[in-house]
Amino acid sequence: MKSFSEFTKNELFKKDNSNSCCDFAELSGMMLFGSNITLKRIRFATENEDVLERYITLADRFDVKVGVARTSDLSSRCLAVVSDKDDISRLAEKLGIIDSATGLIKYRISDEIIKNECCVRAFVKGAFLGGGTVIDPKKAYNLEIITPYMGLHNDFLDLLTKSGFEFKTVMRKSKYVLYTKRSEVIEDFLSFIGAFNAQMELINIKIDKEIHNSFNRSINIESANYDKTIDASVKHIKAIEKIENKIGLDELTTDLKEIAILRLANKSMSLQELGKLLNPPLGKSGVNHRLKKIIEISESL
Ligand SMILES: [Zn+2]
Repeated sequence: MKSFSEFTKNELFKKDNSNSCCDFAELSGMMLFGSNITLKRIRFATENEDVLERYITLADRFDVKVGVARTSDLSSRCLAVVSDKDDISRLAEKLGIIDSATGLIKYRISDEIIKNECCVRAFVKGAFLGGGTVIDPKKAYNLEIITPYMGLHNDFLDLLTKSGFEFKTVMRKSKYVLYTKRSEVIEDFLSFIGAFNAQMELINIKIDKEIHNSFNRSINIESANYDKTIDASVKHIKAIEKIENKIGLDELTTDLKEIAILRLANKSMSLQELGKLLNPPLGKSGVNHRLKKIIEISESL
């Protein structure tokens, strides 16, 4: 069965950008968050075939040659590798990731890529495709985007904050994890990147959960009342047994003896239910009054 992440990514993979300017922004997000970039090669890794296909489609629009391989380890990840030197230097320049002082790769988000509002969305979508996961909302609310690079993490957190999203940061296995556990933030995020079906699915699950929770709450209240009934009943029974052992139930008045016998025979009944067994029936407070008297008598013994 598809995970919720796969479901979301599959929806995104089917949708193309409405503006062509967004293609590079999306590719950049995927590359920065899903690749290992050196001056010799750009190695994009994913476990998702759809994401791989999307990456290759976008790269192809910029005439970048991509070779595909598969890792032999258990994760069976797909690899898309760019190894042509000209392609790499062209990409690195367009991405703005060459440090002018050292000539080395720096993982940062260049303002040039995200200058249009539409491209911000495309970049965030690419980042999610490359390094994001969202847990099945039936289990928990959690969406996260991971990178080992501090600069990239800081730039992305900035970008998300400017776009109105509140994300938190935690370190996991020396990686920076940007995450949110708030369902409203996940909802908005999914719609921001164009995953409307995933957003609807999350909303539906949330409603289901709320109905379930309110049902559970009412059951809990009933069982709390039930516990009270049992506690009281235990007290009554102890008192009645003490009386029987010490003086015998025949020493009680008819009214009290009647309720004592009913109580012993119906240990889990509420006072109201006990009262209905009497002839003529007696209300809750009447039953309570008689049982209180029984407790008083047992205490005096
Ligand atoms: Zn755009």
